[in-house]
Amino acid sequence: MSAAPVRDDYIRPSALSAIAICPGRPTMEAAVERVFGQAEEEAEDDEEGEEEAPERGNVAQLGTEAHAWGETGIRLLAMDRDGKPNEILPHIDTIIAKLNELHAEPEVTKMDKWTWWCIEFYVRKVHELCVMHDIQPLNILVEHHLTMDGLGFRQGGTSDCILVVPFVKVIVIDFKAGFLDQDDASEHDQLAAYAYGAAKEFSVDQVQVWIVAPRCDKDRRVSGGAFDAEALRTAGIWIEAITRRARIADPEIVPSYTSCLYCKALTRCNPARSWLMNTQEALTLIGDPTDADEWGRLADAQAIAGRFNKEGKAKVKKHLIGGGQATGWKLGAGRAIWSLLEVAKAIDFLDEKGFTEMCSNALTIKIGKLSQEARDLLEGEKLIEERPSSPSLKPVKGAKAAL
Ligand code: SF4
Repeated sequence: MSAAPVRDDYIRPSALSAIAICPGRPTMEAAVERVFGQAEEEAEDDEEGEEEAPERGNVAQLGTEAHAWGETGIRLLAMDRDGKPNEILPHIDTIIAKLNELHAEPEVTKMDKWTWWCIEFYVRKVHELCVMHDIQPLNILVEHHLTMDGLGFRQGGTSDCILVVPFVKVIVIDFKAGFLDQDDASEHDQLAAYAYGAAKEFSVDQVQVWIVAPRCDKDRRVSGGAFDAEALRTAGIWIEAITRRARIADPEIVPSYTSCLYCKALTRCNPARSWLMNTQEALTLIGDPTDADEWGRLADAQAIAGRFNKEGKAKVKKHLIGGGQATGWKLGAGRAIWSLLEVAKAIDFLDEKGFTEMCSNALTIKIGKLSQEARDLLEGEKLIEERPSSPSLKPVKGAKAAL
């Protein structure tokens, strides 16, 4: 049996920006997971066509697979398949061709075209930095664990790629395969922690950090920053202060878009709930925001409310399915829905069959929007399955809704 989650499990470099705003977040997340079990589950009942953006769970999976391919590409830069240092480092096109060969192997699950382009972009950028800094293959480290001693992280963090110029400098590269806009590398809290950890581990006082985020607009796909000894010292003090503040007996709980968006305690958090209700009340009583900051706060609150609603709904349904009561609400009847078994394969298949416009740069396709011809083709390939939906949540007529 795994140990009960504790606050330190949630004090991680990747959560630094959120904890800087809401020091109580790790305490709340650990408590919620301890008391209520596993992290909040994503709602399972989205109607077909209801969501245009990919689901968070799908995005996480896509990100994991993209990172795995990025890692493979960087390993090809560093080593040949027999584990010997690669002699073809300058020839990036050869390496990209090898990566494509691996991706084309029959048993491999295929990435969609846009994600594959992102992976190639990342590998090319790492190669460019290798050439620029004359990095030797053995000094290319992939998925390297940094302990970050002294910053207050119990688990440290794993850097996507580190290039080492021994005794001179370290280059930390972070691949962002997702759909969120990123802070500049020089302003990125997680990378500041990595820079500090890398400087300590490799005994250097010069660190470059790079974010490679190929899905961003062209001028934001690559961003770099540099830390000298003074900047590393300042970053270390700041980060240590944040992690220390999160460990005090009664840390402050501060709702905001950045802190709440991925907080596992969101649907159990009273301050976050009050924040959403206050925003709603202000909208009703005071009217529209009057300046850019207030409009921004409204946009933040509605984005968090969206997540709150979705996860809250999933929780109520689970409670009702388990035989519980929710005053004023009941479960509706389930129904059959159609879903795609392998989205990337379906996109490639339709692309091959001439549905190019629909598939160009597509991350997902909605069955409800397919023509009958496309749907028949997918069914013929057994790429569509029928499954029961989870029942809908319905108000009981005449009863006071409790939610
Ligand atoms: S939901 Fe928001 S306010 Fe509540 S603990 Fe999490 S980050 Fe803090």
